[in-house]
Amino acid sequence: MHKIRLSGKCTRDSTVDGPGLRIVIWTQGCLHNCKGCHNPHTHDLNGGFTEDIDKVIEFINQSKIQRGITLSGGEPFLQPEALIPIVKAAIEKGLNVWAFSGYTYEQLLKDENKKALLDYVDVLVDGPFILEQKDERLTYKGSKNQRIIDVKQSYAQNKVVLSRYDEVNADF
Ligand code: SF4
Repeated sequence: MHKIRLSGKCTRDSTVDGPGLRIVIWTQGCLHNCKGCHNPHTHDLNGGFTEDIDKVIEFINQSKIQRGITLSGGEPFLQPEALIPIVKAAIEKGLNVWAFSGYTYEQLLKDENKKALLDYVDVLVDGPFILEQKDERLTYKGSKNQRIIDVKQSYAQNKVVLSRYDEVNADF
């Protein structure tokens, strides 16, 4: 596996996909079909374009003053094998790892390949976007059903532990 399918070029300096300045990997392909999805062009499993994984890693290694990397899409967990070496390179560079997924944390745990990627993630924003639960006041998530999960703490305590970044949404 030397290629990843992307919906857009990797970007730097995002301030809306997690805390601090972040690199974002825009994956292509999603099967969730959430009503009201803002990125329908990312759904086609054969859409977007393929990119060398090595080029993505080079992009990460050339990046400066970034605090983290965010896996977005599309559905990142459809390409765990391609994303693992990318995430490993980011961790080696000292970046924290956020991932957005339409799967729930529990669903990811049950799938060996998807969990293999989750093992490298610090914070997971999980669950499908539900239009009826949309709230534009929410930070880092689109609908109230979604959770911002501290994956490392959840693993350690064997239960879902919400990230402190979810607390800002508690009053909504
Ligand atoms: S998971 Fe995200 S990209 Fe996929 S359909 Fe839902 S909102 Fe759109």
